[in-house]
Amino acid sequence: MPFTRSALAAVLTLASATRTSAFSSVGILRQRGCAAMPVLSAASISSTTALHANVKKLSEPAKYLLPNVDVFIFDCDGVIWRGDSVIEGIPETLAKLRSLGKKMFFVTNNSTKSRKGYKQKFDSLGLDVPAEEIFSSSFAAAAYFEQTKFKDTGKKVYVVGEVGIQEELDMIGVPHFGGPQDAGKQPDMGPGCAVSHDPDVGAVVVGFDRHINYYKIQYAQLCINENPGCEFIATNLDAVTHLTDAQEWAGNGSMVGAIKGCTGKEPTVVGKPGPLMIDYLCDKLNLDRDRICMVGDRLDTDILFGNDNGLKSLLVLSGVTSEEKLLSEKNTITPDFYADSIVDFFMDENAKVGSVV
Ligand SMILES: [Mg+2]
Repeated sequence: MPFTRSALAAVLTLASATRTSAFSSVGILRQRGCAAMPVLSAASISSTTALHANVKKLSEPAKYLLPNVDVFIFDCDGVIWRGDSVIEGIPETLAKLRSLGKKMFFVTNNSTKSRKGYKQKFDSLGLDVPAEEIFSSSFAAAAYFEQTKFKDTGKKVYVVGEVGIQEELDMIGVPHFGGPQDAGKQPDMGPGCAVSHDPDVGAVVVGFDRHINYYKIQYAQLCINENPGCEFIATNLDAVTHLTDAQEWAGNGSMVGAIKGCTGKEPTVVGKPGPLMIDYLCDKLNLDRDRICMVGDRLDTDILFGNDNGLKSLLVLSGVTSEEKLLSEKNTITPDFYADSIVDFFMDENAKVGSVV
């Protein structure tokens, strides 16, 4: 369900009232689908032996990328950090972008932390990023409930997920339960036993949950299948994630898949690639989508998010997507261009001082 303008205004009001916000005006600008074409001329990009002839590797960014982009939206995991390690050269790159007057926002599908929690993570990695520049899917879930005036229904939310969703729901005063409090619970499955559920649950939110168990799945199933009108909300559908930098780990797609499997229902997705977060930003800042570049490491969320919402898109190879996968004939999602990392935004400058790019 897309955000409506009135709902966005309501969320803005909420943000102003309940938390620090960098935004103070509401502007409306929709140019969906108008800016998905590559912005770099043929002369500015180096052809590859790509199976996808239209996918170009970035070169000469100072001439062709930076002058054409006012706002960078960065995915976090695989772009800014991997697991708990900041990617080499990122602090300096962000500082250079700020010195050029570029706006930047950090949008993550990871719902395990609230915006406050992500601010602490940025701080711990030595990255000076204001909380107002951070958008997580846990925040998006809360924004969705504001849009739909869920609080007015008097219903509760059952959470399959972690503390980030709970903290964001607390910020907007929506009652909830489940989450970490149901970790370790096991239903009694002896003869005649049943799990009793609250008939006043009006929505189930499913986010990444390192402590998902059969009790939570059963409870969510009962709410969605038996409570009339109970909504099924997914923060995101990411297949894999980076819990550590040693391997890929099953992402929230696996948690959502479990609930889909026992309900036959499709969720409302509030994180990427859904339009909620970009609509929120554009409406508040009156941004020209043609001058926004979405930067991410994942094709089916980040790049799809950029392409579907009229933004420029750039894939970095510092995360989950390899160049081989990007250029495979099986891949149907293509960015406008790609780079090894956002450090390459200053490749000319780096080359002058002898850095490897
Ligand atoms: Mg990522």
